Amino acid sequence: MTSHLGLDLGGTFLKWTVVGHDGAEWRCMDSGSVPTRAEGGARAIVAELVGCALDAGARFGPVASAGIAVPGRYDPVAGTVRFTPNIHVDWDGVPVAPAVAAALGVSAHLINDARAFTLAELRLGAGRGARTMVGITLGTGIGGGIAVDGRLHLGLDGAAGEIGHLTIDPDGPRCGCGSRGCVETYAQAQAIAAGCGTQTAEEAVEAARAGDGRAVAGLAEAGRYLGIAVSGLVTLLNPDVVVFGGGVANAGDLLLGPVREELRARVHMTSPDAVRLVRAELGTLAGAIGAAVFGAEASGLGQAMPKTVAVPA
Ligand SMILES: [Zn+2]
Repeated sequence: MTSHLGLDLGGTFLKWTVVGHDGAEWRCMDSGSVPTRAEGGARAIVAELVGCALDAGARFGPVASAGIAVPGRYDPVAGTVRFTPNIHVDWDGVPVAPAVAAALGVSAHLINDARAFTLAELRLGAGRGARTMVGITLGTGIGGGIAVDGRLHLGLDGAAGEIGHLTIDPDGPRCGCGSRGCVETYAQAQAIAAGCGTQTAEEAVEAARAGDGRAVAGLAEAGRYLGIAVSGLVTLLNPDVVVFGGGVANAGDLLLGPVREELRARVHMTSPDAVRLVRAELGTLAGAIGAAVFGAEASGLGQAMPKTVAVPA
């Protein structure tokens, strides 16, 4: 069995995990986290990532590869981060993957955190064995990833699967991405809390579970908008399974029921009931686990990954 390091750069915590791999079997062996210190800028964050990598190596022994999940856009060839909407530092070409690679003496690869979530759920979680899978992370924003024929689909530069930015209303609210009426503007945590009359989306889920009518209706409204986007994905990709992660997914059928209703109304080229809608299984470690799996696969030590290219920012 070979071991692979995964790092997940989050706005609050920097998580790491070591994942073991043998044939088709992947297993999470060890994990930990430290607070993310963004106040020192990009170089301080990279130093913290390198520290985590070295600590994990010291605890667990040598790893064969490393992957790093980043909450934003990146250059897959240079191994630099371009933009992180929720970590306000100037990345300015600071090498991230090369620094981790140099510290460990193994190759290191960047991946978007929602794509890492999708790959983790595909190999170790709720999407195990799926041929075509869609992963959706519901939180401050809405992220996603797509797997086709059992492999993560990255697209030209790793941006494939930005499900939150599918337009569902051409004249809808302005989105943080610059467009209008993206599904994220209707189903992100803040929009759900506002629609449910609560402070946070977690409170909205709790209130709805306790039977609060406004919270139930607010979640159903978010589920309806989400269902419009998922209907498009089901029509386009004909997936076996759609995996929902993030805190709001804990709403279960209060959210997924309305998504299913929307599929029944809009999907007519395949059976809208054939696709499984399920909650993620790996919890908050999914990003780090997916980063580890991606590092292994991109290094040629797991299933082969397609190549991505450098696209001008
Ligand atoms: Zn958008």
